[in-house]
Amino acid sequence: MYVLVVNAGSSSLKYQVIDSQTEDVLCKGLCERVGYSDAFHKHSSASFSETAEIPMENHLDAMRVVLKAILDDEGSGISNLEEIGAVGHRIVHGGEYFDKSAIIDEDVIHKIELCSELAPLHNPPAVDCIRACMSLMPNVVHVACFDTSFHQTMPPRAYMYALPYEFYERFHIRKYGAHGTSHRYIARRTAELLGKPLDTLKLITCHLGNGVSLTAVDHGISMDTSMGFTPLGGVMMGTRCGDIDPAIVTYLMEQEGYTPHEINEIMNRESGLLGISGLSNDLREINNATIAGHKRAALAYDMYSLDIKKTIGAYMAEMGGVDAIAFAGGVGENSERMRRMILNGMEPLGIILDYVKNKDDGKEGVISDERSTVQILIVPTNEELMIARDTVQLAEEFAKTGEPVPTIDTSSAEAMMGVLSKAVGV
Ligand code: ADP
Repeated sequence: MYVLVVNAGSSSLKYQVIDSQTEDVLCKGLCERVGYSDAFHKHSSASFSETAEIPMENHLDAMRVVLKAILDDEGSGISNLEEIGAVGHRIVHGGEYFDKSAIIDEDVIHKIELCSELAPLHNPPAVDCIRACMSLMPNVVHVACFDTSFHQTMPPRAYMYALPYEFYERFHIRKYGAHGTSHRYIARRTAELLGKPLDTLKLITCHLGNGVSLTAVDHGISMDTSMGFTPLGGVMMGTRCGDIDPAIVTYLMEQEGYTPHEINEIMNRESGLLGISGLSNDLREINNATIAGHKRAALAYDMYSLDIKKTIGAYMAEMGGVDAIAFAGGVGENSERMRRMILNGMEPLGIILDYVKNKDDGKEGVISDERSTVQILIVPTNEELMIARDTVQLAEEFAKTGEPVPTIDTSSAEAMMGVLSKAVGV
């Protein structure tokens, strides 16, 4: 089955077409800066690759560009939308409604919309993309895969904040976590690489990219994770501050008169590696600057690694030890120096890196020394594959029921879809 995986960000739209039999990616691409004057689209397959500036006012526009690119590219394996067997949609927030992926129907859409207040920049465009796709591909199963669902197993002691309990009841304020699909993939793949059943292992999965989160995966279950009510919480990231003393927020608002929006922007876009170094959110640039003697870059590097080290320690305490630590994400997979910094000094805890293997940046596999009682691994993450697997599984289970494929109201998208339908020839 050919599965289309759609990942709508606040101003981006990523996609892949995956052959579920071979798990090969037939084509993939992304629309960036959707809604801005300099929007562009990148698309590639084995035989073709293209980057072009294309006006895209909104995510429906972007969906049109994506579907047209897939149909126009011979290498995509898709010449007619009917050849797509199922569609998987990444959804940033599923609140407490979803502890696993779900076949999309009106009820699911309604709940995703209810969660929009927790992810106002992400859930609404995802719903737009769902409506567009379900309008154009009404005969196949569409599946929603939630970033938050893997973490729904956390016990209340891990997900509650020590605020008045009524805030949880009235505003649903609690830890939800994020990157759940990635952590689920990393945990499964780590178990496979170790040749052990996942439900026998205590793992710490480290997704270190622009956004950073760690998860304590105890016998296959997310027990705790570092991101919180929003992806701003947890460890220091590229441009996000992570956990800080909450009094700093009110102090700065009083001192400088910042509005909630302004302080939010500062904490989300001007902090982290960028805020401390004053240089960049890109760890490669920070790394080069530290080598050149830049003091604030070195401080940013140290702070970032210490935050992750402390979280690993906390999760070891929480789970009563750890069998393996897995690194993923642009930093986790590619920065041998950062992995070394994070794990440096943890030898008394049975965590010993093999410095030679650790140099194999980007290569999946074990990088711990033979004496290490804790296995250390690089496990390149693959959220799209995880979404495709969930989608196929649910689509196949659904096919056995013999019921008609659920439909939703697509009229709001269709108002803008005359152009879309014509453009993709359906
Ligand atoms: P996102 O969270 O946006 O998906 P990625 O997982 O792609 O991000 O990670 C992007 C980050 O990975 C970059 O900002 C960069 O800091 C880091 N990175 C990529 N390659 C390297 C490398 N070789 N060394 C250090 N950091 C790297």
